[in-house]
Amino acid sequence: MHYTLHLTNRCNLACRYCYVKKGQSDMTAEMARRVVDMAAETGGHHGIVFFGGEPLLCWEQIEETVAYAEEIQRTGKCYFHFKITTNGLLLDESFLSYACRHDIFIALSHDGLGNDTERINPDGTGNRDKLEEIAKRLLSCKPYAPVMMTVTPGTLPRYADSVRYLYGLGFRYIICTMDYSAAWRESDLVILKRQYRKLATFYREMTLREEKFYLSPFEVKISTHIRSHNLRAERCELGKKQISVAPDGKIYPCVQLVGDPMFCIGDIWLGIDEEAREALYLLNEREKEGCERCAIRSRCNHYCACLNKSATGDITKVSPFLCAHERILVPIADGVAERLYRGRNALFIQKQYNDMFPLISLAEDKTVR
Ligand code: SF4
Ligand code: SF4
Repeated sequence: MHYTLHLTNRCNLACRYCYVKKGQSDMTAEMARRVVDMAAETGGHHGIVFFGGEPLLCWEQIEETVAYAEEIQRTGKCYFHFKITTNGLLLDESFLSYACRHDIFIALSHDGLGNDTERINPDGTGNRDKLEEIAKRLLSCKPYAPVMMTVTPGTLPRYADSVRYLYGLGFRYIICTMDYSAAWRESDLVILKRQYRKLATFYREMTLREEKFYLSPFEVKISTHIRSHNLRAERCELGKKQISVAPDGKIYPCVQLVGDPMFCIGDIWLGIDEEAREALYLLNEREKEGCERCAIRSRCNHYCACLNKSATGDITKVSPFLCAHERILVPIADGVAERLYRGRNALFIQKQYNDMFPLISLAEDKTVR
């Protein structure tokens, strides 16, 4: 189970697409410890994810939570892995060396060439130059740290160039997501198709080099074809495999649902309200209108409550843009996969057909320090 701790709803940035209901609330260290206790009650392996707002504004709570979880871990009752998602501006040497000592996985949010127009400072200025230094620092201690990029209608024309830019900075795990809450137009779809074609060429080039490289839109869609028998295993199942805890201690099934009372499924003192969680899960399981007979239904993100909520305001309604996006991406991803498969590219075959590849890859990443 993954426990995402929204340590604060404060942030040092003012991204144009931010969905966080900003305020001055921070989770106390005591509350964070309570979440660790909740995880420990069930034993086994758990992920503790530090999230925000900007979680590095709450470094003390991070240190206290990690120390507390490590203490429990020493009893052998329960095992934790830690992750932080940060905008990077507070990522200094001191936090990086702390993160290395405690094996904290760091994911950086960065919109590539679009960073200066979308992920802006509160005074409206950009921060891309500053982030270049920070990215170098991060990659020198964690060479396989992932970078997470959001694509908006404004940054779409430079989508492929932004991926190349992030690759040029040294990132090898590039996770891309669309801003589904934006007002996408019909004309954007032509640009989207062109950008995915460019990215397919890039994906192929990088794979042919047999260099370790992960570009999420392609990896995910190719995987939905190859692992079609096991797709459910990769879903979050709305509150069953991960929960988000707000700064006030309320529990929600996912990050983008935090703060909306309709999606609250408990709190850290009374625990998860199983009835509420099950009701939401079942609501989301209902067939989405228009998807019943779709040929790529099993490969489409239409089941994601978070994406639907941000796009249409309703977890059960899929947006026309999401539908169009999937219909554009799937054939382009399949085309590049077929070429790589026919060419018997060793990296591609390992990555897509060896179920042990993620574990082998993780072990390799840990040795490159
Ligand atoms: S860094 Fe995250 S929390 Fe901060 S403004 Fe941007 S999207 Fe919102
Ligand atoms: S591509 Fe469109 S119709 Fe098909 S499953 Fe996805 S959202 Fe539904």
